[in-house]
Amino acid sequence: MDCRDTVHLLCWYLERKLSPSVAGEVEQHLNRCSDCRLVLEGATMTLDKHFGTGKAAHAHGRIEKRLPSSVPICLASLEEPRASEKTLTENISPHGARVISKRSWQSGEESLVTPLTGEFPQVGRVIYCLQRTRDRFSVGVEFPDRTVKWGEHSRA
Ligand SMILES: [Zn+2]
Repeated sequence: MDCRDTVHLLCWYLERKLSPSVAGEVEQHLNRCSDCRLVLEGATMTLDKHFGTGKAAHAHGRIEKRLPSSVPICLASLEEPRASEKTLTENISPHGARVISKRSWQSGEESLVTPLTGEFPQVGRVIYCLQRTRDRFSVGVEFPDRTVKWGEHSRA
């Protein structure tokens, strides 16, 4: 799979419309190719903007920009809740987060994200996983059914 194919497929990839084998090829390419990772990040942010916020947040668009991006969390797989790790988010929105993990996650996997800022645990679905270094992964998680108030915004 080359860059052109990957970029063409990214949207479908993010919407999880690809078959697992094709999604796997996209992931492999993304792990090798920093150019396409940038495209993915741009696309993810655009999706966050469009899906994440809807009308109400459109009017309050600036609120999201003021959110801190790095929040301490506890990250666990729903399948193995005991194997949790303390880590940080790289980016957050009320509808998802990009978190740092020591391991690779599968898209579709369910994760439990517990912000250490006093919020309740959130069940999220992994939408992508990018390898940054040998033992550092960026995991995109979306929260399908709820809006997460991160940290100080819970008091607002
Ligand atoms: Zn590429």
